[in-house]
Amino acid sequence: MITYHLITLFPESVEPYVNSSILKRAQEKGIIAIKYYNPRDFVVGKDGKIPKNADELTYSEKRVDNRPYGGGPGMVIEAMPIIRAIELAVGKKIRTTKNKTKVKIVFFSPAGRQFTNEMAESFKKYTDIVFVCGRYEGIDARVKKAFPMIDISVGPYVLTGGELPAMIMIDTITRRIPDVLGHYDSVEENRIASPDVYTRPEVIEYKGKKYRVPKVLLSGNHKEMEKWKTAVLAEGDQKKRSK
Ligand code: SAM
Repeated sequence: MITYHLITLFPESVEPYVNSSILKRAQEKGIIAIKYYNPRDFVVGKDGKIPKNADELTYSEKRVDNRPYGGGPGMVIEAMPIIRAIELAVGKKIRTTKNKTKVKIVFFSPAGRQFTNEMAESFKKYTDIVFVCGRYEGIDARVKKAFPMIDISVGPYVLTGGELPAMIMIDTITRRIPDVLGHYDSVEENRIASPDVYTRPEVIEYKGKKYRVPKVLLSGNHKEMEKWKTAVLAEGDQKKRSK
């Protein structure tokens, strides 16, 4: 089983997605589990200590963002609440030789290593994966000194927060675990998967024009169908390269 630990200020933005469809079933089958840690629940006082009345703090007293050193427009999430959340999630595990190689901590950043299918495959070996989801201008970089972690980007663009990247990684890793999809062969790299797919009916009509399913897919000739899928796939790759 993989437990995904999400450190996020906005768990409510993740829950509907991971609690639907295939990811919901994977949780029900006990293949994955998802836990949330809100940095607001791990605030520290100005003296660096955990407030004695932590349970009674109001929403505004649980602020974890602060002005950036060196100036700049956005707020930065403080290091200590994140460190405390990671500690609670996997602190003990990463200190025991037996478990430490099974834990991975991911720090999301648009400047990180590009997430790929190969990376997703390599993440299947972990029992615990922590996702540190940034917001605003990001998270105080000292959290990366406190724990070993990998910086990951999900693409060459800047998102509002790390929650979408966490959902992307959870989805991509989980669907590769045997028993999650109906057939393991459904994982695209295990077969020739065309980006263009068709279903019933054979002909559709829209604004006076008829659109047909490519004849080869109705032929029953599997060799020819595979050839066609390979060609469509290559065409897609070509388009990507020429952009
Ligand atoms: N100013 C920061 C920078 O340029 O690195 C970007 C901050 S962004 C508005 C807020 C957070 O969203 C980041 O800390 C990161 O956690 C997440 N994020 C944004 N784009 C991302 C991407 N392409 N891949 C992974 N995480 C991303």
